[in-house]
Amino acid sequence: AFGFRFDQKRSELSERADDVNSLLPPSRQAPSRSGDTLPVASYRHQILYLVEHHPTLILLGETGSGKTTQVPQYLLEAGWAARGYMIACTQPRRAAAASVAARVAEELGSTLGNDVGYSVRFDSCETKGATRLKYLTDGVLIREMMEDPLLTKYSVIMVDEAHERSLATDMLLGLLKKVQGRRPDLRLVISSATLQAEVLSSFFMPNAQKNGQANIHKGSVGPHVQPGCLGLPSNQNPAILSIEGRTYPVEIHYLTEPTSDYLQAAVTTVVDIHKADLPGDVLVFLTGQEECVGAVKLLDIEAEKLSRSSGYGLKMLPLPLYAGLPVQEQRMALAPAPRGHRKVTLSTNIAETSLTLEGVVYVVDCCFVKQRCYNPLLGLESLLIAPTSKASATQRAGRAGRVRPGMCFRLTTREAFEREQPVVTVPEMQRSDLTAMVLQLKALGIDNIMRFEWLAPPPAETMVRALENLHALGVLDDDAKLTKQVGLPLAELPLEPQLGRILLASSSCGEEAVTVAALKCVPHLWTASRGAHKAQDEARFKFAAAEGDLITSLNVWRAWLERGKDPKWCYRHFLNHSSLLKASEIQQQLVGYMKRIGLPLTSCSGDMDVVRKAIVQGMFVNAACFDRVDYNPLSSDSDPGINVYRLVRPLPLGHHGVRLRIHNSSVLFRSRPPCVVFASVQQTDDGWFEMQGVTAVLPEWLTEVAPHMYGRK
Ligand code: ADP
Ligand code: MG
Repeated sequence: AFGFRFDQKRSELSERADDVNSLLPPSRQAPSRSGDTLPVASYRHQILYLVEHHPTLILLGETGSGKTTQVPQYLLEAGWAARGYMIACTQPRRAAAASVAARVAEELGSTLGNDVGYSVRFDSCETKGATRLKYLTDGVLIREMMEDPLLTKYSVIMVDEAHERSLATDMLLGLLKKVQGRRPDLRLVISSATLQAEVLSSFFMPNAQKNGQANIHKGSVGPHVQPGCLGLPSNQNPAILSIEGRTYPVEIHYLTEPTSDYLQAAVTTVVDIHKADLPGDVLVFLTGQEECVGAVKLLDIEAEKLSRSSGYGLKMLPLPLYAGLPVQEQRMALAPAPRGHRKVTLSTNIAETSLTLEGVVYVVDCCFVKQRCYNPLLGLESLLIAPTSKASATQRAGRAGRVRPGMCFRLTTREAFEREQPVVTVPEMQRSDLTAMVLQLKALGIDNIMRFEWLAPPPAETMVRALENLHALGVLDDDAKLTKQVGLPLAELPLEPQLGRILLASSSCGEEAVTVAALKCVPHLWTASRGAHKAQDEARFKFAAAEGDLITSLNVWRAWLERGKDPKWCYRHFLNHSSLLKASEIQQQLVGYMKRIGLPLTSCSGDMDVVRKAIVQGMFVNAACFDRVDYNPLSSDSDPGINVYRLVRPLPLGHHGVRLRIHNSSVLFRSRPPCVVFASVQQTDDGWFEMQGVTAVLPEWLTEVAPHMYGRK
């Protein structure tokens, strides 16, 4: 019986647990070389025909049908990368771009970086002149447009995972529509796992024919023409092709009682599934890296207990899967379970559609997702754990039906699910800070951003706020044109505007600024706690600087260099060695940018006020000052209350109630600096904004740096 009661009785799946690999057709047990058994394979000719004859093909198909790995290969073989052209396939996630490229290179029997390459921010693996097929993030393709606005080296651009509606995907689709107007030979393939074809197809309908009809293809299409010639398409309308997948039914179960702790509920459910001793791997959806790692730990303990009480056919093998996972571990999570094991993958949203896991029969869905959320009136963007949409929940459940009929356990009640989950996810464009995007559009010469064609128009307040921010940063002049000193170089830096601005302001501390920015680009400088909170706090304390988190990270960096980048030293100090290595690569690249822009790389030799002033130049919009101490219901002598901060900048009427406090991961958590700037905020369930990446500053620096914003005070 399930420890958590689900509302339907278990269906009768009678086989005893065995190696799940035996469930897969023989051709799929090992990585299939050709992908010929995938659903997309029988559509090969139609796909090539439609790409040939239409400027845009909208390709719909279940996750795992072979869109991402196979379609670019078809295009390659059909000659779309002849005569020096390349094929691009964009991904919203960096991790997916690298992993899929590796897989495709393997299928083609070539080394990654030759025929098949990838390119994500700060990391690329391609050979100029040799790479014909490139997997890249939407963001990187947008960056490529700065050098080559019409993307002339590509013959076909496949925009993958369009259903995710990430900020960069939406922006890219808008830009590509413009490019298409100037490059009639360019072909677009837009692939999506859900049925949003109408929105996409009407968007890509030539404006002159907006009321025309898209060509919807279900069965076979006309005679196959020799593809690969870069002729012009014969039909201007977008074509839609939906790939019929082979999926099995999935039984959905809901909790009978709501749970307040979905992590524990997930662990209990997994243990119960395992105890039922039926074949099949388990995939658990959680909201973030910390949760995944935490659940793996809990399950390791359970697995240990279960292995002692013999009688179960399989050993449980819990593995995490999230975007920042080192490549080797990601491979383990994607590979089939070793013989005699039941793989339990604890994954973030990344396994919803980006990566396919074979052998999953059970899905456990916490029904939440970590999402960006932006309040344009406050100008604060934060990550919020929100209920997933029903569309997402359907996708997640679908992961259980790839090899045989499966089951999905939603860790919520049916009533709550119906009531609280939105039907579809709001596109990221409509819930993000758009400052960085507006900067990029401006740099691409799109001056009238209000008239840009959006798939989903962003809220007007958000656009206004973005323009104001850019103006405050000195990026835009009074005519909303990019300024020479700040705007143009800032657009060139592959950094968020506020970080990039620090580099530009670092005339006498370029070396430190580059390091601070590089360290800010790698998430998780500190390892997730190994259950030793106290030891971890002490380790952190060793590097703590009274000036705040960014200066503390500089201390960590110096100490790491002094220890000769020793991984064991990192382990002892709860530092993430691979993050530090990554940061040092990024630092080198940023040094390259600094040289190109002609900025000095001097060091301030320990005068941290210089660094802090540069930080203020980038982050002054996010300034907060200490307001009062609030009563803390959990208070003790050592922790008398909550230090409440408020934003320094003027807020619109009715928004003064916003309460900020310093996040407990900050070195300044226990001190109470009168004035700070912060890199980001996280919102709590009870309405607090918790500041992260905090630097203590003097209030007069704000007035000095941004008299236009803080002058009157
Ligand atoms: P889609 O894009 O339609 O979701 P994919 O092309 O990603 O489908 O996947 C097709 C098949 O290739 C799936 O069966 C998947 O398991 C397999 N596959 C894709 N990437 C990998 C990988 N990195 N390792 C192992 N198998 C993979
Ligand atoms: Mg895919």
